[in-house]
Amino acid sequence: MPEISTLTLNNGVEMPALGLGVFQTPPEETRAAVEAALSAGYRHIDTAAAYGNERQVGEALRSSGLDRSEVFLETKIWISDYGYDKTLHGFDKSARKLGVDQIDLLILHQALPSDFDATLEAYQALETLLGDGKVRAIGVSNFMVEHLTTLLERTTVIPAVNQIEIHPYFQQKDVQTLDAEHGIMTQAWSPIGGITFYRDGHHGSTLQDPVIGDIAQAHRKTPAQVMLRWHLQQGRSVIPKSTKPERIAENIDVFDFELATEELAAIDALDTGQRGGPEPESITLENFGRTIPED
Ligand code: NDP
Repeated sequence: MPEISTLTLNNGVEMPALGLGVFQTPPEETRAAVEAALSAGYRHIDTAAAYGNERQVGEALRSSGLDRSEVFLETKIWISDYGYDKTLHGFDKSARKLGVDQIDLLILHQALPSDFDATLEAYQALETLLGDGKVRAIGVSNFMVEHLTTLLERTTVIPAVNQIEIHPYFQQKDVQTLDAEHGIMTQAWSPIGGITFYRDGHHGSTLQDPVIGDIAQAHRKTPAQVMLRWHLQQGRSVIPKSTKPERIAENIDVFDFELATEELAAIDALDTGQRGGPEPESITLENFGRTIPED
């Protein structure tokens, strides 16, 4: 089984550098995907209240026979649950669905620029949960430079993690630099460029990129493995998603080779500056709000 490296967060908590993402994994496929991952050696799962599959993640954890302490569980509070009391309750909902007393890493899914006060109150609730030992680490996702700057000015605990879109075609160097300056771990979502797969034309899918393809051939690895290795060697956490056991196994088989400095630089040079996901500034409750069920 591959030996997964770990990253130490800014509060000393250890997190596996590679985990399984379950965005767009239908609830009825989630248990099998997470079970496949845990038996392939994954010890970190990234879910979210908004994904509607926390319950099945918890089921897979229990059926695996692994001790709770062996698996790092990360989930996210959705914007509809922002505000101090609502976010405390959001923790209760997620913990209940996951079937755990403590969550390893709880993050805010998005900034809500149209109501940043509610975003700050939500973060203050995370600080309380951290102080009470209900969560081991707290953080944010999709926070751009201006969001992070305000958060750092107006709250106490520096986020342990900022989970943002990063793949070879969109690297967000400005956010990565600010994260690094404050000891915030940058965690890459869409690490193999899943969000690019259905784009047409030049810089469509990262999987088809000739530079990545050549590097993969040279190492007898796949393009997905090369991209994951690129993140890991640059110190980022990665959470690739798959529902297919063979790809789940492929994506964790990245700890037995090393990219050269020039290969890392060649991938760095593929940045297009073109975002795949929604513009973080455009997130509003009107567009993206939805009720997170109690059970
Ligand atoms: P990924 O870069 O992980 O790519 C996932 C896609 O790649 C799926 O279509 C999957 O298909 C396919 N795939 C997986 N492994 C391979 C492989 N080895 N070779 C070829 N294709 C492969 O993108 P995601 O957007 O899913 O991001 C990963 C995770 O990041 C999410 O699951 C979620 O946890 C998180 N995320 C967070 C966001 C946020 O706003 N915070 C936004 C988006 C994602 P298949 O399943 O069929 O194998």
